[in-house]
Amino acid sequence: MVWTIAQPPVRLDLDSCVACGLCLPVCPTYRLTGDETASPRGRLAAIDAVDRGDAVVDERFGEIVGFCLQCRACETACPSMVPFGRIIESANAEVTATNSSRVRKFAVATAVTSPVLLRSTSIGVGLLQRLGIPSRGLRTLPVPNRTARGGSWGPEDAPTATLFIGCVADAWFSDIHKATIEVLLAAGYRVDAPKDQTCCGALAAHDGYVAEADRMAGTNHDALSSADLIVVNVAGCGAHLKSDTEFGSRVRDVNEVVAVAIADGRLPTLPQNGESVAVQDPCHLEHGQGIVDQPRAILEAAGYTVVEADAGGLCCGAAGTYLMDHPDTSAELGRKKARTVEGTGVTLVASANAGCEMQLRRFLDDGYKIRHPIEFYADALATN
Ligand code: SF4
Ligand code: SF4
Repeated sequence: MVWTIAQPPVRLDLDSCVACGLCLPVCPTYRLTGDETASPRGRLAAIDAVDRGDAVVDERFGEIVGFCLQCRACETACPSMVPFGRIIESANAEVTATNSSRVRKFAVATAVTSPVLLRSTSIGVGLLQRLGIPSRGLRTLPVPNRTARGGSWGPEDAPTATLFIGCVADAWFSDIHKATIEVLLAAGYRVDAPKDQTCCGALAAHDGYVAEADRMAGTNHDALSSADLIVVNVAGCGAHLKSDTEFGSRVRDVNEVVAVAIADGRLPTLPQNGESVAVQDPCHLEHGQGIVDQPRAILEAAGYTVVEADAGGLCCGAAGTYLMDHPDTSAELGRKKARTVEGTGVTLVASANAGCEMQLRRFLDDGYKIRHPIEFYADALATN
């Protein structure tokens, strides 16, 4: 078939799947349904059939592609290194371009393609929350407090770490930005947060809105062109930004930067505090960036005993807009993840992705304290 999008799935990538099935046990949607078309192998077969002209991009194809969480656990498990994330993004883009599938909620589609709307909606919900409007949904979110956008901190002559601000993260998780700035300053960096940067575009790209994602990337190219080191503290944003052809090689997750600074002695290993913290591995940190050891090293250096919440486990079900498109599946996965955390008997939880943190807040009760590893370390630095 002739794909309508500029970057269709590559034949070589599709051919690299040998249909071994080793990805099936790690796939959340396959595990939940037992349905081959809800597995990585089944989705690849559907995309392959469309590419060969044996099938068309219709509503069923849209369902098969859209039910994928894009967690990329299959990539980690695949011995043939099939670049599944890249393939499924292209397939989603085709579905969106041909408008042949999922009846997308207008608000969702508009939000993921508009960083301004995404951010202002977040702030608006936060104001409602501050007014005390009771809602289970609103209770799951932290209250927005301040913004780090446009700032610059630390000595002029120090090596500069450029902080990626993001949109939702900036509105809801500015405490993580604050902790990131404090720790990077302690590691000897000057921290810069260019004002003109925008949303990373991951939500738009995952939903198939390629032109909008490209537009955001263009804005970020201009804003971050002179940055030597771009530090990201949301795993989903970092995984997407690392794939950028212009500046991806200069992007690092904050866990990587801080773990190196601890290892080479620029940041201290602090005394044990007698407390335990359960670690949750965000898919876009573990599978999207291959980062597993670094958050654990940071938490141990902060004085905690690390407890595994769900090593090698399934996606928590947040997955960008997935919780809006597939609320039941998202909730089922969220509950499973929450049960694994409860099973540790530990009430401090570390998660390095804003979406995972929100999902955990939905399904864990108020007795749990969920924070980014860098917040745990920043607090320990301040109190030692
Ligand atoms: S593990 Fe890789 S090669 Fe095997 S079926 Fe899954 S995607 Fe194909
Ligand atoms: S990205 Fe996740 S949900 Fe999608 S096929 Fe791979 S393992 Fe399954």
